[in-house]
Amino acid sequence: MDFLLSEEQQLIRENIRDFTRQYLDPVAAEIDENSRYPEEVIAKLAEMDWMGMPYPQEYGGAGLDYLTYVMVIEEISRSCAATGFTVSCHTSLASGPIFYYGTEEQKQKYLVPLCKGQHIGAFAVTEPGAGTDVGAASSTAVLDGDEYVLNGTKTFTSNGPVADTFVALAYTDKAKGPKGMSTFIIPKGTPGLRVGEHFMKMGIRASQTSEIILKDCRIPRENLLGSEGQGLKIAMASFDNGRMGIAAQAVGIAQAALDESLSYSKQRIQFGKPISKNQAIQWMLADMATDIDAARFLTYRAAFMKDHGFPYGKEAAMAKVFAAEMANRHASKAVQIHGGYGYIKGQKVERLMRDAKITEIYEGTSEAQRMVIAGNLLR
Ligand SMILES: Cc1cc2nc3c(=O)[nH]c(=O)nc-3n(C[C@H](O)[C@H](O)[C@H](O)COP(=O)(O)OP(=O)(O)OC[C@H]3O[C@@H](n4cnc5c(N)ncnc54)[C@H](O)[C@@H]3O)c2cc1C
Repeated sequence: MDFLLSEEQQLIRENIRDFTRQYLDPVAAEIDENSRYPEEVIAKLAEMDWMGMPYPQEYGGAGLDYLTYVMVIEEISRSCAATGFTVSCHTSLASGPIFYYGTEEQKQKYLVPLCKGQHIGAFAVTEPGAGTDVGAASSTAVLDGDEYVLNGTKTFTSNGPVADTFVALAYTDKAKGPKGMSTFIIPKGTPGLRVGEHFMKMGIRASQTSEIILKDCRIPRENLLGSEGQGLKIAMASFDNGRMGIAAQAVGIAQAALDESLSYSKQRIQFGKPISKNQAIQWMLADMATDIDAARFLTYRAAFMKDHGFPYGKEAAMAKVFAAEMANRHASKAVQIHGGYGYIKGQKVERLMRDAKITEIYEGTSEAQRMVIAGNLLR
């Protein structure tokens, strides 16, 4: 593995940094405060070709490798973790299954507008009774002539309220257990698809999260993704990809915590000198920087392995669990370094600490990541 980013990757990092400074930093606190979807920023990201980064140009993507993609998610999240996740969920979880499992016709119809950012994607797997235990889902899809009829309630669907294209999991044959699950593409506006409760959250508040209710929702047979019974496999493979995005999001949050802490600790005077002159503060900063590098390397390694055709499920889970727990530890330390001011709304570290928590929960909790890692070790 090459530990140095290529010139092109360094240039892309600079470009995305310029972008976030210009368009995202100025609104990040406001969109968090108002739980507002930053439509104008997403439109700009689309204009810059950042809504379909790892997919080929023939499908409207940017044709970049996964390492570059996760690096961009990291940089967006360094400015605003909610926007980083909106892009990651759209790219890895919604567009990914269509790219990897879709027919050419499905790709032309659904993937191209997703990659161009003309459409936003959502991935609806979780249900009220089926979180970590995906197989406990009760949504069903019954073939009726040339149509599937879907029924069920999906919850915590990110991008749900703003999505144009939903990729959803449902049972086509409950008797087969998890092997009877299938994945479907459901366009917004399909009769029987409704956005239910819109959730208000602790963090990543500008990311939109809702229930998706399917009631006698009829879609053409050709909207089945892959084949019947492949649903769980498609979902798990999508999570392997998505987890690298979440690890990158966590690295971005922690990097922002360090950026803020370095700057504040040099300015804040107590006992007649900057607090950064105290070894207690310096050690927190040193631990932050070291752990961020470790998490970044784990994340880039997983992406590198994917790019080079190696199995990467274990590595993606390792990156996610380590980066998520690291981001939580260090966002909290950043608040500590800011003292009382860090606890007050308007300080970026207050938002970072709230945003960090979700990285331990979605796309598989930290416990679920350890199950994946141990499962691989004990195979
Ligand atoms: C903001 C947000 C956005 C989300 N976005 C999406 C999305 O876009 N699409 C989607 O499909 N889902 C989404 N989710 C759902 C998310 O993936 C689930 O919340 C997560 O997988 C956990 O499921 P659960 O909440 O039902 O918790 P549960 O599965 O009920 O788990 C509760 C606790 O028990 C632990 N636990 C469960 N089983 C075990 C076990 N066998 N061994 C040890 N511990 C265990 C868990 O780790 C956790 O600590 C989102 C959730 C949130 C909060």
